[in-house]
Amino acid sequence: MKALIYKGPGEKSWSDVPNPQLINPGDAIVRVETTTICGTDLHILKGDVPAVQPGRILGHEGVGTVVEVGTSVHDLVVGDRVLISCIKSCGHCPNCRSGLYSHCLGDEGQSGIGWVFGHLIDGTQAEFVRVPYADNSLYKLPDGVSDTEAVMLSDILPTGFEIGVLSGGVKPGDVVAVIGAGPVGLAAIATAGLCGAGTIVAIDRDENRLRQAREFGATDIVDSSAVDWREKVMALTDGAGVEVAIEAVGLPETFTMAIDLARPGGRIANIGVQGKSVDLALQDLWIRNISISMGLVNTNTTPMLLKLVAQHKIPAAKFATHTFTFDQMLEAYDTFARATETKALKVIIT
Ligand code: NAD
Ligand code: ZN
Repeated sequence: MKALIYKGPGEKSWSDVPNPQLINPGDAIVRVETTTICGTDLHILKGDVPAVQPGRILGHEGVGTVVEVGTSVHDLVVGDRVLISCIKSCGHCPNCRSGLYSHCLGDEGQSGIGWVFGHLIDGTQAEFVRVPYADNSLYKLPDGVSDTEAVMLSDILPTGFEIGVLSGGVKPGDVVAVIGAGPVGLAAIATAGLCGAGTIVAIDRDENRLRQAREFGATDIVDSSAVDWREKVMALTDGAGVEVAIEAVGLPETFTMAIDLARPGGRIANIGVQGKSVDLALQDLWIRNISISMGLVNTNTTPMLLKLVAQHKIPAAKFATHTFTFDQMLEAYDTFARATETKALKVIIT
């Protein structure tokens, strides 16, 4: 089969590799019919995720058809159309039972990124993928949901919702600031609205991303490259600050922006992968009763989000800006990597 292989920092290829085989009885083999590219794939390609070794098939988002199942797979049969969760999880270890799928204690790999496809196990940017613990890591798709809509449920929608909106405790009427209007920030914007946020301010320095934020439900947009960006956000809250600041970039400066915007008693939900350390003035946070949450997505809300996508309450198809075929995988990467020029949000590869 063909697959996108990480060859070491700065290098990748679309190459012929052997098809994956069932290894454990809980595995399924899925023919990938739709996949996409995530900012994390670009981080890996730069060499910023050293745990990912050359030779790995990248990709952790996908939709496809089950073509083979192991002997202990009960809930799926060959021919089922499925969504592949970005995280594989056994579903019955103590961590999985408490909803912490990203820290599954199952017997393959290790918790944390070990459980994300395209990291310590081969990923979905390939014609076929082996899915461990298939009963818990795959979701059967209803007919009314397209592949393009469904693939947004592999990672970006659960991430924006779980780590941004749920962890941030968004409540009806809240003023919510979302810093970073990339796919993940836009997913937070779309789902904050469903939780009743009264004002949703999208903050980005890319004009096109801010325009897109409106389409996902941002009530206000603020260009963070303007000197008075903070005053503009504060003016929306009568100077008090926001109830919830969601960080969806992954930079120390945007984390600091979130701290700067929160009102007393406010909550900061950090989604971004913070590659560098951040100085925290605990005294300042303490005196303002600020709470901070962060972490890896668990995808335990996927069934609920799938229902909302099927009911057209989340505009999942709007994330897709470009479509390619599998043989155009490298072109798809190029388009995604030059997002500012190409205005790409999610590139669909079918
Ligand atoms: P992205 O790079 O597509 O989007 C980031 C956005 O931030 C862009 O629109 C960019 O213009 C904006 N931005 C950059 N610098 C800025 C600044 N100084 N001020 C304001 N805006 C700025 O990324 P994405 O795919 O949307 O992902 C966002 C973050 O979430 C990344 O760090 C990603 O690795 C992380 N992520 C975390 C999890 C998790 O489990 N917690 C899962 C998936 C992705
Ligand atoms: Zn588990």
